[in-house]
Amino acid sequence: MSNNLNLILKLGNPKLYEASSPLKKDELPEAREKAHAMAELVTEYRRRHGAGRAIAAPQIGYMKRMIVLNINRPQVLINPVLEDKSHEMIELWDDCMSFPNLLVRVRRHKSCRIRFLNRDWKEQSWWLEDDLSELLQHEYDHLDGILATQRAIDERAFALKE
Ligand SMILES: [Zn+2]
Repeated sequence: MSNNLNLILKLGNPKLYEASSPLKKDELPEAREKAHAMAELVTEYRRRHGAGRAIAAPQIGYMKRMIVLNINRPQVLINPVLEDKSHEMIELWDDCMSFPNLLVRVRRHKSCRIRFLNRDWKEQSWWLEDDLSELLQHEYDHLDGILATQRAIDERAFALKE
């Protein structure tokens, strides 16, 4: 069993509270290598914990604005922007690969749009609802150094798994 999951920074690591920088086009080769490693981490995390769909670059200490989604296949979102956030909110127990045993009650926009550059530096835009909407808001927050713990709806909004 490999220890790759140790590459994921955990709650308390100061880097998780830092904002990341936009990726530049000439950084794409390096970013693709990081994205490949990140996609594998999502797969490994899911194998270990039974959940896990996406990871943000700062979670492995790569302080760039990049998210890797790995649900059916890896998808790379570079320099994403969230727009058209719905007034309607949803409330849920959120978790994070940076704190595998903790659940946090948060509120997220029920729907939103995300614009980004893909791994070929082509502009893309997705309309997101419900689980994908809350997921991408969670990952986007990582790029600004914001963790779900900072989105807790009140002082009782924390629970341990098991
Ligand atoms: Zn997270």
